[in-house]
Order: sequence, then C-alpha cells, then structure tokens
Amino acid sequence: MEKRDVVIIGGGPAGITFARKLKKLKPDVSITMFRPEPHSMVCCAIPYVIEGLIDASKVQKRDELVTDVGVDLIRHNVISVDFENKQVVDDVGETYLYETLFIATGASPVRPPISGAESSNVFTVKTGQDITGIIDRIENGAKRAIVIGAGAIGVEQAQAYQVRGIETWLIDMASHALPNMIDKDMSVPLHAALEGKGAHLAFNTQVEALETVGSSVRQVRLSNGDAIDLDPGKDFVCLAVGMKPDVDLFLDSDLTMTRDGIVVDSQMMTNIPDVYAAGDCCSFYSAIDKVEIGGKLATNAVPMAKIAASVLAGKGGELKGFYNGAATCVEDWRIASTGLTETVAVSRGIDTVCGYGETTTLFPMMPGAETLKVKIVASRKTQQIIGAQVLSKLSTTDKIDIITLAIQQSMSLKELSKLSYSAQPWQSSLPSRSAIVEACENALETLDIQEEPAQNAEAGECE
Ligand SMILES: Cc1cc2nc3c(=O)[nH]c(=O)nc-3n(C[C@H](O)[C@H](O)[C@H](O)COP(=O)(O)OP(=O)(O)OC[C@H]3O[C@@H](n4cnc5c(N)ncnc54)[C@H](O)[C@@H]3O)c2cc1C
Repeated sequence: MEKRDVVIIGGGPAGITFARKLKKLKPDVSITMFRPEPHSMVCCAIPYVIEGLIDASKVQKRDELVTDVGVDLIRHNVISVDFENKQVVDDVGETYLYETLFIATGASPVRPPISGAESSNVFTVKTGQDITGIIDRIENGAKRAIVIGAGAIGVEQAQAYQVRGIETWLIDMASHALPNMIDKDMSVPLHAALEGKGAHLAFNTQVEALETVGSSVRQVRLSNGDAIDLDPGKDFVCLAVGMKPDVDLFLDSDLTMTRDGIVVDSQMMTNIPDVYAAGDCCSFYSAIDKVEIGGKLATNAVPMAKIAASVLAGKGGELKGFYNGAATCVEDWRIASTGLTETVAVSRGIDTVCGYGETTTLFPMMPGAETLKVKIVASRKTQQIIGAQVLSKLSTTDKIDIITLAIQQSMSLKELSKLSYSAQPWQSSLPSRSAIVEACENALETLDIQEEPAQNAEAGECE
C-alpha cells in the first residue's frame, strides 16, 4: 500500500494546475494523480476540431505537463474513497494512502430524460470518444444535425456542423441563444447571423421525443408541433443541455454537496479534513450576491486550483466567489459576458438599471471598422456594477475583463464611467468614444443623475 503526501483525482485543468503550483511551492511533496483518459484535453477548442480547422492531436495536452514536475500519473479510475482511513482504491484494486486529497473529477454532459436520448446517433460533447463519434458521422455523409441546447457549447457545435455543410437546427427552451451569458435584447444580431448562415432556430421550444428505429433516432419531435426527419444511418443529434458534477464516488459519504457539486469554502476546503476540491465538480456561488450559480468554466477551475495549492503550501489565499467571465463566438460575432445578466439579477430579487454603449472596433473611418456593443447591468440601489455583456466583431475578452475587474473592486457606474482608456485608429474607437464609458453614462442618465463629462469624452475631440 503506497502512501503519498497528496492524491489528486482528476487530470483536467483543476488537477493539472493544482499539481504544478503545489510542486512549485513545495518541490518535495509527493503527488499521485489519477486520470483514466489517454489525454487531458483543451475542451474549449473541440468545436474547431469538429469543424476541421485543427487536428485532434492539437487539443491533447502532454502528460509531461505533470510528469516533468515529478507527479506520478496513474491512468486508472478511482473507484472508492475512504475519508476516515484516508485512502483511495483504483479500478485495478490498488490502494493508495494520502495525507491530503484533492478532488478534481470535473463534470459530464447531462443526458436529459427524453425517450431516445441513449440512441447511437445521439452525442454529447466532451471526450475524445464524443469527438470521434461526431466526426465519423460527418465524414460518413451526415446531411442533418439537431443541436439541443443553445448555450455556448451548443451554439459552437451548430456552427461547426454548418461549416461542414450540414443542415443544422438549434433548439432551446429559452427565448434566445446563450441564455446564461446574455439577455434577449443582446441576442438579436446573433440570431440574424446564425440564420444568415442557414441555421434553423427554435427557441421557447422543447424536444418532446426522439423517435427511433432500431438503435438510432429517425425523427425529432418538438413542442411547437414540428417534426424533423433524420436519416438514422447518417444524421445525428447533439445534446448540449448542461453539465453535471462527477461526484458519484462520494454519494454515500459525508462530503457536503448540492445538486451542482461539492461545497467548498473560500480556500477550496471541503467539510472533510484534509480534503480539497476545485473545478467543475464543485458548486459555485456568485461573488456578487453569494448565492449559488453555474460556473463550470476552465477559467474558474484554474484560480480555484491555484488557491488550494497555495493554501496547502501554507501561503494562504482565498476566492470570494465567482464572476463567470466567459466568451464565445457566433459566426463573425465575438461575445463575452461577466457577472449577472439583467434577467438573472431580476430573478434573484435585485432591482437593476442597465445602460448601453455602441461604438466601433476601430476609428470609424478605418477600413474594417465594425460595431462594438456593451450592455452594463448595475444595482439600482447601490449603483454598483453587477454584470456586463459585450458584442463585437473583434475580441471581446479584453473589454469584459476590464468590467470584471470593476465588479471585483465593487465599482459603481460613476466610478467606471471615469475609466481612463487609450485610443489608436487600428485598435479602438475614437478618443472621444469608449463603449464601456458610454454604457455607464447611459445607465446613469437612466437613473437621472447629473453626471460630469467623463475624462476624454469631449465629442469630436481628435476626430
Ligand atoms: C466543448 C466544451 C467547450 C468548453 N469551452 C470552454 C471555454 O471556451 N472556456 C472555458 O473557460 N471553459 C470551457 N469549457 C469548460 C471547461 O472545459 C471545464 O470547465 C474544465 O475542463 C473543468 O476542469 P476540471 O479540471 O474541473 O474538470 P475536467 O476537465 O472535467 O477534468 C476532470 C478529470 O477528472 C477525471 N476523473 C473523473 N472521475 C474520476 C475518477 N473516478 N477517477 C479518476 N479520474 C477521474 C476525468 O477523467 C478528468 O481527467 C468547455 C467545456 C466543453 C465540454
């Protein structure tokens, strides 16, 4: 029976980051990581493998990321954990004792309880097997694909299938695409872009049944009365209706969990001594109102893992909650969001005020200048910023990260409206225009507050 200082269950972004950071801080610590799949993957780039833009090998992470820093990587599943005796057992019956356990088991795509959801031409999107299954269908003459779920994963899949020449439907119960990221008013140009490329969109619509022949789906029946016929031998369905934490291992234990995953404190400690957890297997809470919220993002898994490693190494650290900065693409639009949408904020009882800013990505006289839209969401009572959404034909992540920082610093609309920004013809709108500043000013106008002109905001200056 081997004894290790640290056992890590899971070799995704949380497991890898934790292992590397801990080894950096405490080189002598002995670490064993369990990860059954042949490669850890960069999931974010999966759509571009399916689209045919990049080779599948490009999204496979190298094992050396962890083995080169001295981590023992064991390619087995952990099948049981005994918190009392501090030991795990893997699927070949080996037992490992640990001093500290780090749980980073991630999450798996949900298969909703719709009849036919287990059929052979119904895929989810996460693993190497999922990618191979979808690409095999595409390469074997699929003509139609139905994507159920219009979150970022579903929207990205739909676009990949269209690039491969497949007639694609995108179906969601919500009223618009990317409902967890943006409000309906921001989705209008995105729907137009998807439809412009030939996608069939069905919102406020449920899938009622996946009719099968043999083990394959031959027809998808929708709550709006439509029935879409599929060639069961060639066409396929993609389920992108959310992720559920991989925590079955702990169902009979005393580990505190919610439906969304393992509960951790601000230092990633669970309720069990010497057991930490991070990433998609955890439940998340909003840094804004401290209420549970979705957050199954690599950009959450990584900082959680860094904090856990730092705490374990005696260096301290804490995470005050999650902001959920996230980004995706819809055709040539880039979309990013942070914090709470207006819809979510209102549903959580927050009285909101919103503001809009619209400028251009470059100076408007420059070739290729395109629209840039910002929506800012603030609490009407405190005027603190609680969320934002950015749409642009150029990168949006830089803009949204600025607003996330403003939320992290508890900034008000008035404070962010004083943002000192830069301008250059190929890189921004005019010196007189910042969509972030204008969104804040617009929200302040809505609140009917006399606002002094923001720095740089003399219209016409330097035009
Ligand atoms: C298609 C797709 C696109 C995405 N795009 C983005 C994006 O653009 N931006 C972003 O921030 N996030 C994105 N995500 C989310 C991101 O991939 C996840 O948030 C991230 O992978 C979570 O990391 P993790 O380490 O917590 O879990 P995972 O990456 O799920 O890793 C979990 C690990 O635990 C292992 N494991 C589970 N159970 C056991 C067991 N019993 N024994 C041993 N090992 C076990 C698994 O095999 C795996 O190695 C995307 C996800 C998908 C599926």
